[in-house]
Amino acid sequence: MKNILITGGCGYLGSHCAVKLIEKGYKVIIVDNLSNSDSSIIDKITKITKSKVIFYKGDIRDNKLVDKIFFQNKVDSIFHFSGLKSISESIKYPIKYYSSNVEGTINLLRAMESHNVNKIIFSSSATVYGNNYKLPWHEELCPLLPNNPYADTKLTIEKILQALSKSKILFKIGILRYFNPAGCHSSGLIGDNLENKNNLFPSILRVIMKRDKYLNIYGNNYDTKDGSGIRDYIHVNDLIEGHLKAFNYINNHDGYHLWNLGMGKGLSVYEIINVFEEKIGKKINTKIKPKREGDIAQFWSSTIKAKRELLWEPEKNIKDMVEDSVYYLQKSYNYKIFN
Ligand code: NAD
Ligand code: UDP
Repeated sequence: MKNILITGGCGYLGSHCAVKLIEKGYKVIIVDNLSNSDSSIIDKITKITKSKVIFYKGDIRDNKLVDKIFFQNKVDSIFHFSGLKSISESIKYPIKYYSSNVEGTINLLRAMESHNVNKIIFSSSATVYGNNYKLPWHEELCPLLPNNPYADTKLTIEKILQALSKSKILFKIGILRYFNPAGCHSSGLIGDNLENKNNLFPSILRVIMKRDKYLNIYGNNYDTKDGSGIRDYIHVNDLIEGHLKAFNYINNHDGYHLWNLGMGKGLSVYEIINVFEEKIGKKINTKIKPKREGDIAQFWSSTIKAKRELLWEPEKNIKDMVEDSVYYLQKSYNYKIFN
């Protein structure tokens, strides 16, 4: 049984990955500073998998802690999810973002080097492409033009990893550029943090639960089919399946490899609202707001490379993402659908 260290494993995507890896027979060690999550997620992972998880509360910038984790566990590989992820916040507080994302990763890589761990899967983002190329965004055709500090931290980390792959140590690196993960685990026990004020899905869920009165629609006059922003939403389950395929790939191929993980098609904010309204049988109140700084009208992925190299293809659709999200509200927040 191999030991995998998941950074940010209490977060939305890391927790889903922990469940999947445990189900596949790996032993999982989680480090998380709980800046955007809470430790109750560890019990939920245990409840779903009926297995123990080793958890370290702390920051990946803490040298001593990271060394301790490597000393105490025979870490085979890293799935590196931890990081800050809000574009708008990164514009306001760039140092906070470069520190947590870039400095944190450098500290992790330093520890990997000194403990002879050479396999890493990194959570990158479609934001590295910026806004300057025809759709769909393809890994090998698109220029990399990040237009905000968050995106720049992701590209900077990719570059550091690429440099490492050319160093004297044999590294096996998989970069995954996520488009827009949505939905949650079929148990309804884990999902995106509803306090996450940025992303569309948790914001819709807050309105459904009546925590918020209405959904802000950030821009209704984009040059898109209905004026609202268009994104490539991908079910978290498919996204995590992509991680396992990428992990398998780097186990068999040295060096630096990267793939987009998306559905390969775009949906507008209004289209997503419609699917939710159909599911809950009620209207979702909305209010038009100005466009967010740094936002892009539309983007979606090319999935050709992941299909070809990883033999990976998403299986779930937008109805699955919406249904699972509503089920999460029912199971974890006691939401009653017909009231
Ligand atoms: P999340 O905020 O739910 O999870 C990240 C976790 O990392 C949190 O639990 C947080 O407490 C922890 N963390 C943050 N900084 C840390 C640090 N310095 N040390 C230790 N722990 C730290 O985010 P998520 O949605 O699960 O995203 C995971 C990764 O995927 C992030 O790197 C994010 O940038 C990337 N990503 C996410 C999306 C998305 O829409 N969710 C899209 C593209 C890329
Ligand atoms: N969006 C919105 N209201 C919200 C959150 C998001 O209208 O409360 C829109 C946003 O403008 C974008 C789309 O939904 O067009 C997806 O936004 P999200 O922040 O989830 O993803 P990102 O923009 O980072 O790809």
